[in-house]
Amino acid sequence: MTSPTHIRRRALEAELRELKRFEAEDRAANPKVVGTPGEGTERRFTPRQKLDAFVAQQGRCVACGGKFMLSEMELDHRVPLALGGPETVGNRELRCVACHRTKTRADIARIAKAKRQSRLTQPREPSKRPLQSRNTFR
Ligand SMILES: [Zn+2]
Repeated sequence: MTSPTHIRRRALEAELRELKRFEAEDRAANPKVVGTPGEGTERRFTPRQKLDAFVAQQGRCVACGGKFMLSEMELDHRVPLALGGPETVGNRELRCVACHRTKTRADIARIAKAKRQSRLTQPREPSKRPLQSRNTFR
């Protein structure tokens, strides 16, 4: 039988392995932000940035408040770059995979709405029809 101490130790060992892997990756990572805003697939964060957020949030997901392992969390832009969010520490937050998926869906809808609205507010050609005079004097 495994005691709670054993389980805890195994979790800590797994976490340590993950941190070591992260440090190695971080050394190899290109610190530049790659890709263009609005694309969701490119790698925008370095492992160090993810680790910093993990420490700052004490391993908790900003959305559900649950405690997770580093490997179970994903770094995200609070305000998406496509909506004018900055590439700053303050605009980064760590979510568990499930909460990140939910937020991404909401972000995609927000970005689509913002695009629709910018199309609607774009100036249109002025009308060529002359204004009707409404002279009521006789
Ligand atoms: Zn969560």
